[in-house]
Amino acid sequence: MKGINGLELSPKKTDYLKFIKEKKKVKTTEISDKFKVDPSTTTKILLELAKTDLITYTPYHGCSLTEKGIKYAEFLNRRHGLIVCMLVGMGMDAKTACEAAGRFEYFVTKDVVDILCKNFSHPDHSPCGTRISRDTCCCCPGGR
Ligand SMILES: [Zn+2]
Ligand SMILES: [Zn+2]
Repeated sequence: MKGINGLELSPKKTDYLKFIKEKKKVKTTEISDKFKVDPSTTTKILLELAKTDLITYTPYHGCSLTEKGIKYAEFLNRRHGLIVCMLVGMGMDAKTACEAAGRFEYFVTKDVVDILCKNFSHPDHSPCGTRISRDTCCCCPGGR
C-alpha cells in the first residue's frame, strides 16, 4: 500500500479495522461486545474511521470496509504475519510469537515490514496462520 508509514492508526483503531475485515459487515453492538467498550465509544471511533475513508458507517446499521480500508487491513495482517515470522525465526513457538506480536506490532513501521518481507522471501502465510498479502508497491516480486 502506497503513502502510509504504518503508524496512522492507534492500536484500538487497528484492532477495530481487523475485526471489521474478518466480519465483512459489523453492527456497532458487535464491536462494543467484542472489545468490551460502551456503544458511544464505539460510535465515536467508527465516525473517526469513516472520516479517513477506511470504513463506511451508517448509524444503527453498522459498518464495512471501503476499498482503502481493505488495503489497510491487509497491511495490518501482513505486518502481524511478518513480525511472527521474525520471532519464530529467532526460535519462538508460533503461538507465543502471535501473542507477543499483538503487543507491539502497532508501532512497527512499513519500512520494517518491507525489510522483513524481503528477508523471509515474501512468504504468503505466517506460522500463526495469518495471510500475508503481496504488497502492491513494495519489495514483493510482481507487486506494482
Ligand atoms: Zn498471529
Ligand atoms: Zn515482499
